[in-house]
Amino acid sequence: MKKSVIIIGAGVGGLATAIRLLSRGYNVKIYEKQKTIGGRTNQLIHDPFTFDLTASILLNREILEEVFSYAHLDFNDYIEFVKIDPTYRCFYPDGTQYDFSRDLVSLIKTLESFSIEDSIGYIKLFGEVYERYNIANRDFLQRSFENPVDFFNPSSLISALKTKAFSTSYQLISEYIKDEKLINFLCYQSLYVGVSPYEGPSIYALVPVISQLYGLWHLRGGVYSYIKALEKVIYQLGGEIITNYSVDEIIISDDKAIGVKSKELDEVYGDIIVSNADFPYTMAHLIKSGHHKGEYTKEKLKEMKYSCSSFILYLGLKTKYPQLSVHNLYLNTNFKENVEFAFTGKLPPDASMYIYCPTGIDDSMIKNEGESLSVVVRVPNLLFDSISWDKATVMDMRNRIVDTLKTIKGLEDLEENIEYEGYFTPKDLKNDFNSYGGTAYGLSPTLTQTNYFRPHFKSTQVKNLYFVGSSVHPGPGVSIVLLSSKLVTEEILKDTSSRFY
Ligand SMILES: Cc1cc2nc3c(=O)[nH]c(=O)nc-3n(C[C@H](O)[C@H](O)[C@H](O)COP(=O)(O)OP(=O)(O)OC[C@H]3O[C@@H](n4cnc5c(N)ncnc54)[C@H](O)[C@@H]3O)c2cc1C
Repeated sequence: MKKSVIIIGAGVGGLATAIRLLSRGYNVKIYEKQKTIGGRTNQLIHDPFTFDLTASILLNREILEEVFSYAHLDFNDYIEFVKIDPTYRCFYPDGTQYDFSRDLVSLIKTLESFSIEDSIGYIKLFGEVYERYNIANRDFLQRSFENPVDFFNPSSLISALKTKAFSTSYQLISEYIKDEKLINFLCYQSLYVGVSPYEGPSIYALVPVISQLYGLWHLRGGVYSYIKALEKVIYQLGGEIITNYSVDEIIISDDKAIGVKSKELDEVYGDIIVSNADFPYTMAHLIKSGHHKGEYTKEKLKEMKYSCSSFILYLGLKTKYPQLSVHNLYLNTNFKENVEFAFTGKLPPDASMYIYCPTGIDDSMIKNEGESLSVVVRVPNLLFDSISWDKATVMDMRNRIVDTLKTIKGLEDLEENIEYEGYFTPKDLKNDFNSYGGTAYGLSPTLTQTNYFRPHFKSTQVKNLYFVGSSVHPGPGVSIVLLSSKLVTEEILKDTSSRFY
């Protein structure tokens, strides 16, 4: 008899876990609260404009491909990667702009325009971080840490020291590079996991390094085309996705998870329950008894550190803006002070921003002659309780962003060409996807909340209960969550010793 698995949530973590388990012979049903699947990796369509709701930068293309090969499928039959060059275009308030190409010859030309010393520093920094990345990838990201001995052994501890995780990203970057514009370009990318480059471990300097060394890729149709591809595979392998089903409780009997409950709908039962809902939310709301929460009590959840959130402005434009590349950064004055606002409960007055303009290379995301543009600003999460996100706040953010965009050469008339505009706030992250505290990336991947110290995939208190997603090991971001789906699947296979295939 095939074992039945219930997955709570159709985020990228839940969907990928479903594919892996289906391919190994399990029966899988996913229950998703929203009417659409994808969770935080979602889509906004306002004809003629298509926007990726949040995630747009795809690191480690091979991790995205691996989900298909795990199920003995060819990714080429489902998704189409398009090369992005330059990886980034950077704009500064003094009117300068720089392209960071994936081509080494062009890149060096850009770097030398800062200074020869900074160009050499950049290459040295990348050499050092590349070495650390390989250690982290082998010894941390791809390992489960379910048992203390997996982490607290001499080889892991030596590896931890080799990754020199104790300095911050800013400290590491500024050791090699002196030009402030270049430092800010690299620091901004360490923000992608939702920790400050001035506080978070220097291992996150690996984000710009991976982007440069392995390249950034666009998926035709946007990142959401990956979600659609996962959905197609799930149905092909016999899985089921039930939307508009909000789980209110994980049913536990004799310390064993046996099913899920919804207020309005029927209870459903399964042999294994995997929660893809944000881990702290799962602990706070879906597990009712204190005993079954284990160490994750209300007090502990309050004490833990959480990543920042984001405000997004979506702009449907009537005309094309070839001045923009796919991934653009506007790195504003008082960079450090403004970045730190997102971690101290304040809105940045001179926000630096990420500008995503995929329609320059992807006509499937636009049906007119214009652009689908999203602009992302890092803001505090709702746990600070300092910003109401009422209409006035949203319009203030919107106006500041539009005013900044208009200072970029060639974008002066942008406001006149807005045909559609939409907004996304931390409140939407909380209300739509049950993201605990409205964070963008879940639990902050600080040193004390990574590897063995991050929540594990398997409940210590409840048998047959597992977790997958941003707030568990190895951490946030689409590709890292896909690694989490692999690790949790291996754990389930080990525990159930199933060999159905
Ligand atoms: C603004 C922003 C920008 C980002 N940019 C990038 C980027 O460029 N690149 C990148 O790699 N990553 C990016 N990320 C991060 C990335 O989107 C997430 O790490 C990833 O999507 C998380 O996937 P997940 O499976 O862990 O969880 P989620 O996407 O949170 O999925 C959880 C699912 O569970 C559902 N759910 C919750 N509670 C219940 C319940 N009670 N019953 C039923 N269903 C429930 C939710 O509705 C959701 O569908 C970004 C995130 C944000 C917010």
